Amino acid sequence: MGILDEDVARVREATNMVAVVSEHIALKRVGRRFQGLCPFHAEKTPSFSVNPELGLYHCFGCGAGGDAIRFVREIEHLDFATAVERLAAKAGITLRYDDAAVGRDRQRRDRLVEATAAAVAFYHRLLLEDPDAGMARKYLRSRGFDGDVARAFSLGWSPDRYDALSLHLQRDKKFARQDLLDAGLAFVNRVNKLQDFFRGRVMFPIFDVRGDPVAFGGRALEGGPKYKNSPESPIYQKSRVLYGLNWAKPDIVAKSEAVICEGYTDVIAFFGAGVARAVATCGTALAEDHLKVLRNFAPNLVLAYDADDAGQNAALRIYQWEASYEIRLSVADLPPGQDPADVGLSDPARLAAAVDGARPFLEFRIERLLRAADLGSVEGRAAAAKGAVAVVAEHPDDLVRDQYLMQLAERVGIDVDRLRRAAAAGAGAVGASNAPPPRAGAERRRLPARDRAEVEALRVAVHEPGLVADRLDGALFADPVVREAYCLLASSATFHEALERAGGEVHELLQRLAVEDLPWADDPVTYATSVLVQLVEAAGTRRLAVMVRTGDDRASDLKAVLETLVSNRSAGTWTVAADAAEQLLPWVAGSGEE
Ligand SMILES: [Zn+2]
Repeated sequence: MGILDEDVARVREATNMVAVVSEHIALKRVGRRFQGLCPFHAEKTPSFSVNPELGLYHCFGCGAGGDAIRFVREIEHLDFATAVERLAAKAGITLRYDDAAVGRDRQRRDRLVEATAAAVAFYHRLLLEDPDAGMARKYLRSRGFDGDVARAFSLGWSPDRYDALSLHLQRDKKFARQDLLDAGLAFVNRVNKLQDFFRGRVMFPIFDVRGDPVAFGGRALEGGPKYKNSPESPIYQKSRVLYGLNWAKPDIVAKSEAVICEGYTDVIAFFGAGVARAVATCGTALAEDHLKVLRNFAPNLVLAYDADDAGQNAALRIYQWEASYEIRLSVADLPPGQDPADVGLSDPARLAAAVDGARPFLEFRIERLLRAADLGSVEGRAAAAKGAVAVVAEHPDDLVRDQYLMQLAERVGIDVDRLRRAAAAGAGAVGASNAPPPRAGAERRRLPARDRAEVEALRVAVHEPGLVADRLDGALFADPVVREAYCLLASSATFHEALERAGGEVHELLQRLAVEDLPWADDPVTYATSVLVQLVEAAGTRRLAVMVRTGDDRASDLKAVLETLVSNRSAGTWTVAADAAEQLLPWVAGSGEE
């Protein structure tokens, strides 16, 4: 059901794996493959590899791997069909569906995005040209945003008329009434007429991670609620979309850090200050889904607002997120009571410094407490210590707790053991010992040891199948995993087909080999022959042992050929050794492993 298999295969063929991955992480060429930091787990040394020829990726750290479709699915949390569509659009391939309803859904989504794009263009042109937009231009200038900023962020102005956009989209752009309703651009009013959702507002278009316009935030210049956001729609889910992510993605990946703000103007102020990695939640509180999206791009998240306002519940949630998503949340060092847009207006350099000086969330909370305390008196120090210990006790990791307690002891001049006892009582009280265990993927995975010649033979079969065609046989492999991998490969039309049929360890082995360095720098033919000879020698030796044991009288014939192979292999006369291997193959092939 869904997209025709044939079209999925065409998309896979046409996709440039390196280009797709490079949108998310920096890749470096190493020999015939590419390498970078894994976007699926936190790491400092690159263990993520891409094989451009086979269109595959594999992480030696966490085991993540697959083809371009898998990569797009995982990194952008898309379902299979959406990931294929995404890649198809890039490759200029028109997809066909075996279920008309699914195709209609996709077309519907495209139509709503088109309508939203037309609204973005309409509002933008009005902001730049309409005499009535003078107030809006004046407001933006007062925030330090000039025409270049308006163009870079496609800012707009929704006129103070009840159906300006609705008329334009229906009459000039031929959109249907239902398109406008479904995209959240208009609603049906009391006299059953279409009315624009936004009027008299400065418009901030919201784009999804791919850069498709999906919604708006509108700021009122007078009266009414200051900000209004598009309703949720088939193309806009508030908890998943972050304003600015489409522009911030490259810098977030490059710096391994995202700055999270509360407002559209905060994001623009950060970009203006040269911090091009800011995003904002769209009129909602930071939610777990937002973190899941951001985690794909960077593990370090800097909150550029007062995260402590929401109190203890927010704190516990943040520690839990840090543990379960392997992220680090810190708080930007902004002047108290000011949001980034204000700071950016008066002192843009201060914004960059606020991000550089971000502190871990716990440190930020302790610091604020101590700053407010009277550390000059005994009573003041005792009260500050008590408050700070309670804050420390909320952290689920006892090593982290202890380091903060040691620092705190020094600051307040109280013995650390007393603080530890107080914290232990507090930690029990908030049940912080239920922290989830660290994820296994964090450490480099150990792979089972395998026979080198067998693995190398399989590697040649993966990369240079022509060199070993008809010279290999499943029976040559003693390791059942390697043997199954080879047999799947030999019985599949393409590498991808073999990979799809493989499960568990076999799948992992094939995937890993596909992206590993190739050891035969300039002479693949000799390399393939040497591997093959070693493999046949080992299998021949095993076969000989069985024949001798069972009293098979052909044992001496086998032994003679085997000796020829061994002596030529040691002498490096590969053509003779290869001939001997070819003679031995029927002896060992199909013989099983008695
Ligand atoms: Zn990984």
